[in-house]
Amino acid sequence: MTAAVMPTYGRIDIAFERGEGAYMYDTKGGKYLDFATGLAVLCVGHSHPHVVAEIQKQAATLMHTSNLYNIPGQERLAERLVANSFADTVFFCNSGAEANECALKMVRRYHHTNGNPERYRVITFNDCFHGRTFATIAATGTEKILDGFGPKMDGFDHVPVGDWAALDAAIGPNTAAIMIEPIQAEGGVMVVADEVMVKLRQVCDDKGLLLIVDEVQTGMGRTGKLLAHEWSGVMPDVATLGKGIGGGFPIGACMATAEAAKGMVAGTHGSTYGGNPLAAAAGNAVLDIILEKGFIENVQRLGDLLRARLEDVCQRNDAVVEEVRGRGLLLGIKCKFPNMDLVTAMRGKGVLVPPAGDNVLRMLPPLNIEEAHIDEAITALEDVCRDLGQ
Ligand SMILES: *Cc1c(COP(=O)(O)O)cnc(C)c1O
Repeated sequence: MTAAVMPTYGRIDIAFERGEGAYMYDTKGGKYLDFATGLAVLCVGHSHPHVVAEIQKQAATLMHTSNLYNIPGQERLAERLVANSFADTVFFCNSGAEANECALKMVRRYHHTNGNPERYRVITFNDCFHGRTFATIAATGTEKILDGFGPKMDGFDHVPVGDWAALDAAIGPNTAAIMIEPIQAEGGVMVVADEVMVKLRQVCDDKGLLLIVDEVQTGMGRTGKLLAHEWSGVMPDVATLGKGIGGGFPIGACMATAEAAKGMVAGTHGSTYGGNPLAAAAGNAVLDIILEKGFIENVQRLGDLLRARLEDVCQRNDAVVEEVRGRGLLLGIKCKFPNMDLVTAMRGKGVLVPPAGDNVLRMLPPLNIEEAHIDEAITALEDVCRDLGQ
């Protein structure tokens, strides 16, 4: 019999009924430390009182209007993102893939506005992940994600990260932009080196291309900077956000310089829900916390701490785990055993962690965890490594 919910996910047989801070509680009384955070979504943990209060207040006042009218909360959210980043302007939508769609449409409009409509192709990278819509599966480009969905949407060329000859060969008269994740998270938590980001910026400037950074997973303080590209000192033309920006409320955002966005005039793009009053209240509540003095610096400190502990575990269990990757609180451990064995065993010890590509175990805790939570996760991981290593 077909499940009422379309079976596009292989689900784990647990249902959660409550979350509080770094913990989730299932319907059978089980308690779990959440180092998965709904895939980098719950950046300030579960049911943060400030986020809950702001959403409740807004829901009882005005949930939705339309982008046909001014939305003061959305303006405030945009102004705060602009004030704290490279960007001059922001478009709001409801997910990461939609944010990337906006970015991809924007770079085409940019060249069209410049009188170069033939410039429509975007270079993306091997092992990337940009979403599940038609354009973003083509941007992602892997066999698995494209299989059975007909001809791949035209307009994307893939090269390996750091292969400058391949990049040079891929850039032609039709190229509009280069799009990269500062850390290829789904691909296996592979950090794109700062020097690579610097060189990509240079290539874009030399060839008249726009640089898009997909910060859907790396943004909102996750790596110890508001946006992960800040580590490289490079300014992109466009950046996309999703996941953490709403702290659990579905929000996507596409940020851009005024120059990159100059073609996005009235009527060129839209979203019914994008940045509605309820979404804006959630986004502003999350920003209230993340932009508090010292919050993002503390992510760096916690990230360094977790990383050092993970490296220590790797050293002492080198038959099971071999290497730590990532930045801030977006960390991965390359496994020697199948990563799903570790994910399952960790869950058995009451710690939720997601896998990533390249046989990696990922750690995406709330950004406001305490050191005791790190201790708890490390103890579980050490137990798991000991059990598997025997
Ligand atoms: C999750 C993710 C997306 C897709 O976001 P959705 O909200 O699932 O559409 C895009 N890019 C990156 C880097 C992601 O991690």
